[in-house]
Amino acid sequence: MISTILKEVETRDLTREEAIELLGIDNKSDAFYDLIKVANRMTREQFGNKAYIFSQIGLNAEPCSMNCKFCSMAKSNYVMDGEFRKTMADIEDLKKTARDVIEAGTHDLFLMTTADYPVDEFIRIGQALREIMPPQVRLVANIGDFDMDTAKALKAAGFTGAYHIRRLGEGRDTDIDPARRIQTLDVIRDSGLELYYCVEPIGPEHTYDELVDEMMRAKEYGVEAMAVMRRTPVPGTPLAEKGMITAAELTKIEAVTRLVTKPVRSMNTHEVTPMTLIAGVNQLYAEIGANPRDNVNDTEANRGYGVQKTIELLRDAEFEIDLD
Ligand code: SF4
Repeated sequence: MISTILKEVETRDLTREEAIELLGIDNKSDAFYDLIKVANRMTREQFGNKAYIFSQIGLNAEPCSMNCKFCSMAKSNYVMDGEFRKTMADIEDLKKTARDVIEAGTHDLFLMTTADYPVDEFIRIGQALREIMPPQVRLVANIGDFDMDTAKALKAAGFTGAYHIRRLGEGRDTDIDPARRIQTLDVIRDSGLELYYCVEPIGPEHTYDELVDEMMRAKEYGVEAMAVMRRTPVPGTPLAEKGMITAAELTKIEAVTRLVTKPVRSMNTHEVTPMTLIAGVNQLYAEIGANPRDNVNDTEANRGYGVQKTIELLRDAEFEIDLD
């Protein structure tokens, strides 16, 4: 029963069946507000009403051989407005961008590439940026699948964590074997890198069973910074015709994910959806450069939010942000 689940969630872990029951709540019912009330209270109490900004720099926009059917950079349906690749030749520009977003208020800095970007170059860029970053700012890799040698090299270069997921529809809507994604998740855990996880990219066709699979996976890996993301229907990508879930549906999924996974550091929804800030979200992403949900090379000027805008939104929701 929903009221019993919501009463007991703070003192015990939820089962898979209970998660599915919560996801079945009607978004226009009173139970919806009971759900987001509990998620909001748990986040504000557990994190001392503090909020966090993660900034992500996309280092390249090039046709990617993994052919994810929702991605603007898939080789099979490349719809970006151009191509670029940042390398060590651009390191001074990248240092300036990193300094700017850190000074503006970034807690964790993510570097993202497509799956085919050369990992050695990526590690060299990370190492060079680490040298100018304050020690308290975490450095996170968002790249293709990798093995233990690469995980060790990432750590040696100063990376503290990696964003990696088994996507919804992996192997069906992407050209990647789901088992390969799990291998990388294991490598991240075993190497001591911090794993950042997300239930994504959520589309109207995904069942609640599929969503709960990923919530349970995050729980199993002990993820501390958790997220959910709805799929953006980028025109020209094969899955665009399936459309997008509503902000209310995303808010419910985020609240349930927060209750199931109980992250100890932060909870995020992506793309930025202000409604979720009263439902358990206390972390937002600022985005610079390319991303798979946009068709322009500099998402900050289009779909993406900059650091200042994310700070404004979090403060508008009456979160406190430590900027040091
Ligand atoms: S989502 Fe990532 S792995 Fe998939 S096609 Fe796009 S860039 Fe490549």
